[in-house]
Amino acid sequence: MDDMRKRIVDEFTKLRVSRQRKYQLRMKRDRCCTECGEPAVQGSRCLKHLVKARERQRKKRGLKRRYHGTLSYRLEAVVRQKKKTAAQRGEIAQKPALRPAPARRAGLPRRAGGRRPPGRNKG
Ligand SMILES: [Zn+2]
Repeated sequence: MDDMRKRIVDEFTKLRVSRQRKYQLRMKRDRCCTECGEPAVQGSRCLKHLVKARERQRKKRGLKRRYHGTLSYRLEAVVRQKKKTAAQRGEIAQKPALRPAPARRAGLPRRAGGRRPPGRNKG
């Protein structure tokens, strides 16, 4: 029995719940994401899984409105802001700005069977 991995013995061991639920409870206790175990900024999930859960629920419940004061939106905004400031400091390589495509009207082959204005060839 020595080669068996030691069981985790904590306050959740004796609970009559599934292993998954125990994992979630332990993650929650340690302030980690209950799905992937990454450190959770706030709440019970990491940002990635907060967003995933939000979108999953939206789809399931057929909701249309977005509550932008919600934690996941606020955290997303913070992350976006961080990326933006990092880009401004030149830490992240910025993508070249999109230029409008050059006009290529000249030199285009005429379409065969193109419409002509009516009544030109008559009379
Ligand atoms: Zn996660």
